[in-house]
Amino acid sequence: MQPGEADILHSFSAQALLDSLFAFVGVVTFDGILIEANQSALKVAGLQPSDVIGKPFHETYWWSYDPDVQAELCLALARGQAGETSRYDVMVRVADERLMMIDFMLAPLRDAYGNIRYLIPSAIDVSERYSIQHEREFLLARERIARQMAEQAVRRVERLQTITSALSEAVTPLDVARVVVEEVRQTLDAHQVAMYVRSVDGTALEVLHSTNAPPTDTTAPVPITMLLDTTHPLGETLKTALPVFLVSQADREALYQSVTLPPPLAADAHGLALLPLEVEGQVMGVCMVSFAEPRQFPQDERAFLWAIAVQCAQALQRARLYSTMQEAVTTRDHFIAVASHDLRTPLTVMLGQAQLLDRRMQHAQLGEAFTRPIQAIVQQSLRLNRMLTSLLDLSRIQTGQLVIERDWFDLRRLVERIVAEVSPTLSRHTLELLATPDPLRIFADELRIEEVIQNIISNAIKYSPAGGPILLTLEQRDEHLCVAISDQGIGIPLEAQQHLFEQFYRAANVQHSSFTGLGIGLYIVREIVQQHGGMISCTSQEGQGTTFTICLPLSDHN
Ligand code: ADP
Repeated sequence: MQPGEADILHSFSAQALLDSLFAFVGVVTFDGILIEANQSALKVAGLQPSDVIGKPFHETYWWSYDPDVQAELCLALARGQAGETSRYDVMVRVADERLMMIDFMLAPLRDAYGNIRYLIPSAIDVSERYSIQHEREFLLARERIARQMAEQAVRRVERLQTITSALSEAVTPLDVARVVVEEVRQTLDAHQVAMYVRSVDGTALEVLHSTNAPPTDTTAPVPITMLLDTTHPLGETLKTALPVFLVSQADREALYQSVTLPPPLAADAHGLALLPLEVEGQVMGVCMVSFAEPRQFPQDERAFLWAIAVQCAQALQRARLYSTMQEAVTTRDHFIAVASHDLRTPLTVMLGQAQLLDRRMQHAQLGEAFTRPIQAIVQQSLRLNRMLTSLLDLSRIQTGQLVIERDWFDLRRLVERIVAEVSPTLSRHTLELLATPDPLRIFADELRIEEVIQNIISNAIKYSPAGGPILLTLEQRDEHLCVAISDQGIGIPLEAQQHLFEQFYRAANVQHSSFTGLGIGLYIVREIVQQHGGMISCTSQEGQGTTFTICLPLSDHN
């Protein structure tokens, strides 16, 4: 300090010094009376010195808007009297009844003897910092909410994917209901979820499945007489095919008067969502979700529930179609089993008698005019017999009753015998066998393997109407014996080749004209081959010919 500066400083009054500060500063006596306040403190509150000077500090304008704030200040004054400094953020009242956030400090001021003479309140305006902080907190909170919503949306999409894949495996309507009821309950933490479907005659609703009284496959659904008018939310959903969302019990009563909820839903349910299960303009039922508390059903939740309802309705429709199809298949299989079995008995008698008659006529040398018709009867009866055998095999496969009885035999001998038996019956075809002279022993069901080879040979004959050679190749490949049968017939269109082994499948190029058949021979052939642990494959070119190759394991060790 320059000499003389101290004197200059002393010449300023304390008041002038305080007034020059931008901070709010005052002087309070030991017993809490405000005796000084600088211009900044007075100006910000629009006060005159006389408004506050000489008054108890805690009762002055700045604090008098809130008793709690005043009490907090009294505490700070008491601490000041005890020699402690207080500092805290607090709101004070300023001009025009506004509130301002200040960083407030109250410190004791001691005299030269160390006695506390005054308490010095000071403060600075921190409202801007506060508002920035508040804004930041607000933005952070908004970001947090947005992130939570995004996470929830992702979880719901994942849930929807889970539901979709679970529904794709649901075969019966009850499976569908189980998936939906459980997933919705879990995802939304719902109190109860129930799925209702229309009864067969359409006059009632039935509980297909619900969270609290899950029916088993065998329990009959509980019918609920349906209120088809719109005085009931169920009726409204069924009629309009639109979802109904009811926030609370009061909301429900206001909209639908004294409506009772159908069982098994609890009557005191609050939030309620009714979702139509609609496919192709038909509402098949309703999925009802209830909550124990009122629920606002925000937009994303409504969309989620509706998406589930759409998926559920489609899955229900699929399950229904599937069960109708299954019923038709069962009826067909039953018919095939019974018909082929029952038709065979009279056919066997007829065939036996026809063959007997044929032999007698030949013996009596009655001539072609008599023998030809009877031989035609024998041939057609044999053909009918083969068809019935195939049908019987088919139903055995379907019921798991196709029995394979294995034993060792020489496959080469079997093929030779077949060639020897079939060749004399052919006029336009020749059967050629290509095989090593050695025995090719195999552990398999000889009768069934004969059936397989016969079947493929008869197809080769049937589907090469112009005649020609049919080549049978027999060879050992590692641990397998393979029979390949090639013809030079009509061949198989490329697109048909992958379906050949399906039941009742016939390629487009054989469905017209004279190629009669049931389309089950290859299905049976593949089943027999597979039950032996073998494989069957086909190569063909339309118009050129076809080769079927069967490979069977030498023994059953694999
Ligand atoms: P089917 O001969 O009674 O129709 P299959 O199950 O034995 O029934 O054969 C299924 C289909 O495979 C046949 O309808 C035919 O379209 C095709 N197919 C089988 N073998 C041959 C072949 N050798 N040449 C051409 N097409 C064949």
